[in-house]
Amino acid sequence: MNIKQHIEKINKQEINAVEFTYKALDEAKKINGEYHYLNVVSEELAIEQAKQLQKSLSKKNFKGKLAGLPISVKDSICVRGVESAAGSKILKGYKPLFNATAVQRCIDEGAIIIGKTSQDEFGFGSFSTNNSDGAFKIPLNPFDKERVTGGSSGGAAGLAQKADFPHVSLGESTGGSIACPSSFCGVVGLCPTYGLVSRFGLIDYGNSLDKIGPIGKSVGDCEAVLEVISGYDEKDSTSMKQELKKGKVEKVGLIKSFFNVDKEVKEAVMKTVDRLGVDYEEVELPIMAKYCIPAYYVLATAEASTNLAKYCGMRYGSHLPLEGNFDEYFTAVRSEGFGAEAKRRILLGTFVRMAGYREAYYLKAAKVRTKIIAEYKETFKKFDALVNPTMPMIAPKFEEVSSLTPLQNFMMDVSICGPNLAGLPHLSVPCGFSKKMPIGILFVGDHFHEKSLIELGRRAEQ
Ligand code: GLN
Repeated sequence: MNIKQHIEKINKQEINAVEFTYKALDEAKKINGEYHYLNVVSEELAIEQAKQLQKSLSKKNFKGKLAGLPISVKDSICVRGVESAAGSKILKGYKPLFNATAVQRCIDEGAIIIGKTSQDEFGFGSFSTNNSDGAFKIPLNPFDKERVTGGSSGGAAGLAQKADFPHVSLGESTGGSIACPSSFCGVVGLCPTYGLVSRFGLIDYGNSLDKIGPIGKSVGDCEAVLEVISGYDEKDSTSMKQELKKGKVEKVGLIKSFFNVDKEVKEAVMKTVDRLGVDYEEVELPIMAKYCIPAYYVLATAEASTNLAKYCGMRYGSHLPLEGNFDEYFTAVRSEGFGAEAKRRILLGTFVRMAGYREAYYLKAAKVRTKIIAEYKETFKKFDALVNPTMPMIAPKFEEVSSLTPLQNFMMDVSICGPNLAGLPHLSVPCGFSKKMPIGILFVGDHFHEKSLIELGRRAEQ
């Protein structure tokens, strides 16, 4: 049953929301015991929401666009009263007093929040293995437990694949964290245009890059959730008033350098391209392909390092007994509270925006980003969308990931980083298998052209 049918049945009261929610929670817990997709199962909240919903359906004639739909929420997106730690031990115990706007909009339409999904600490990673030095369990790939889910929204994509009940996840992407795990777990991930979905209540990684978006079993499922969570929000100054554009899908560009990948990955993607019923041509975006990774890691870490400054044992999350002067106290809390990858990013990010280096790194990266956006804009004059394999390979094994250097880790994002840097919407759709592991095809559109991507995604799905 797709989510549309399920929601209809709930609205018509052919399915009882409370009974259904109990069953969904049972199944989610069972999956979680084996695969570690949820840091928290918000059982009490879910049952309470289901009871409330059932009451509104029967007494108040309520109909919800997401009525009775279980939604899991990435740990970095705030849910009122439920521990929201962004996968970091420094935020363990933090229970927000408010809902993120995206979460609130789902609840207002009758959705049921079932838990917080596992991720890389603060979103720092591509495999969900940066678990704040062991503070959280690492999610396992739904197709092969010896492989990673991808990251950083790994728990979200894993659960979207493994859940047999109707369900959609809210993920988050700064530099590819929706597309990468969706590809590795064989599900659909939709990362919207920057500013389309409010960031209010998202625990920031890089404010100029972060986007909340849905991960689900089908393009239609993601579309239904996007419709609910998108739109202007006065609580987020970067949220946009712009409506989605009604674009066409006649011609797509294949980004040539990103097809230099595993043979089976390339074949699966090309077979899908042939089925799209559009004209296509190879295209190069040389500035993006060469500089997106260095520009992204300079900008993202610069922003991350300022965002993490507020975690010092005073307001949020973990504290220690107050001892020593404030430098000593903050140092003690932060040394203990942040995992290794968060520390690496703080060092890198602080360095690139330091007086004396700012011009050479941070400001230069900002200029490169502007050039990358211009290059995309020029390309979209000729093409309705751009296409490439989402990831160059299938989900790697844990042992392969642990032997990567930090730089090799960063390079994993090469084919998904560009659209994130430029704030462009992108959609990853499963398109085949290699060694029994899923492969994803990525569609990238111009700003606010989500509808074109959804149309292409539908054709790719068939
Ligand atoms: N892998 C990228 C990083 O580590 C992307 C993370 C994300 O999108 N949250 O920064």
